[in-house]
Amino acid sequence: MIKEKFYKLPNLPYGYKDLEPYISEELLRLHHDKHHKAYIDSANLILEELDKARKIGKELEIKAVLKSLSYNIGGHVLHSLFWDNLTPDSAGKPSGELAEAIDNEFGSFERFKQEFNKAALSVEGSGWVALTLCRKTKRPIIMQIEKHNVNIFPTFNIILVLDMWEHAYYLDYKNEKTRFIDTFWDIVNWDEVLKRI
Ligand code: MN
Repeated sequence: MIKEKFYKLPNLPYGYKDLEPYISEELLRLHHDKHHKAYIDSANLILEELDKARKIGKELEIKAVLKSLSYNIGGHVLHSLFWDNLTPDSAGKPSGELAEAIDNEFGSFERFKQEFNKAALSVEGSGWVALTLCRKTKRPIIMQIEKHNVNIFPTFNIILVLDMWEHAYYLDYKNEKTRFIDTFWDIVNWDEVLKRI
């Protein structure tokens, strides 16, 4: 099977108005159509440059190229996970083996949310907070990602992400990060998160 060599902006699994009043149509359009797309365009541009340089035998600033590729592909992958783990019809809490894994690890769903919220609030600069599963031990572990690619645990399965970049909330929430994080819990697509286990 020939795979597409470049990345494409995925469609949202809901309409632009569907996350209101939690996330406005204006913010969602800006975030998806402009910010997410910019990471894809940049990643694709770098990949094209790599193709070209290899064809004509041109030297590359390989360190800078790889750093930028990691950042932009990271941005694309995390945004894709983010859109899919949101829904206007949230169940409100995890179920099945996910609920069990969270209870076993954190003691309760409430305690998990508390830790996740603190991690979200304390992201340094721009970044993300994620719930991950270690593929070896199956332990759920919270991951605090700087930018789109720093502090990631290699090979861990990222099952739930929250974008804490200013562009993710500022238009609707200004500097009220806590209110934005509280809102997140009302629109988590727990069925999708469970599928990622
Ligand atoms: Mn974003």
